[in-house]
Amino acid sequence: MKKSKFQINVSDLLISGGKKDEITFENESLEELENLSKDGINGTVIIQSFDNWSLLVNLKNLTCTIVEPCDKCTESYSREVFVPKYQAKFQIQIDPEDDEDDETYLIENENIDIQEMILNAVRLEEPFSKLCTNCTKDSLDTDEDDEDEYESFWLWNVQFR
Ligand SMILES: [Zn+2]
Repeated sequence: MKKSKFQINVSDLLISGGKKDEITFENESLEELENLSKDGINGTVIIQSFDNWSLLVNLKNLTCTIVEPCDKCTESYSREVFVPKYQAKFQIQIDPEDDEDDETYLIENENIDIQEMILNAVRLEEPFSKLCTNCTKDSLDTDEDDEDEYESFWLWNVQFR
C-alpha cells in the first residue's frame, strides 16, 4: 500500500516546544473523500509543537474539486472547494475531562494522520443544497425552497425535455 502523504512523522517536532514544520501537498489522492476529482487535493500543512506531547496543526489554502450529481437535475457537476484555514490539535494522550471546543486527534507512535482533519475541513464547506450552475441560476430566478415548487420544477423539466 502506498504510504499516504497525510501520515506525518512528528518525532523531530516532539523533542521540544516551539518547533515548526511545513509540508506542501499537491494532487494528493484521498480515497475516503467521495467524488474527489482526479486532480486530488492541494494545500499546505503547518505543524507546530507546544511541548513534547502536543502539536497544533494548521491547514492552509486547501483546494480540491468535487464532482457530484446536482440535487435538482442529477447532472454531474464540479464544485470547487477552498478552505483558507483549518486548525486542530494533536496530542499523545487525549484527556476525556478536557472538553475544549478544539478538534483534537491522537499522536500515534510519533506519527500524525491528518486525513480525518482534511475530510472534516472539506465537509464543512459542503453547501446545503448542491446545485449545478444552471440550477443555481434557476433558483435565483424563482423563490423555491418549498417542497411543492421543487416537485413542479421536476414535472416541468420532464415535460419540456
Ligand atoms: Zn442541476
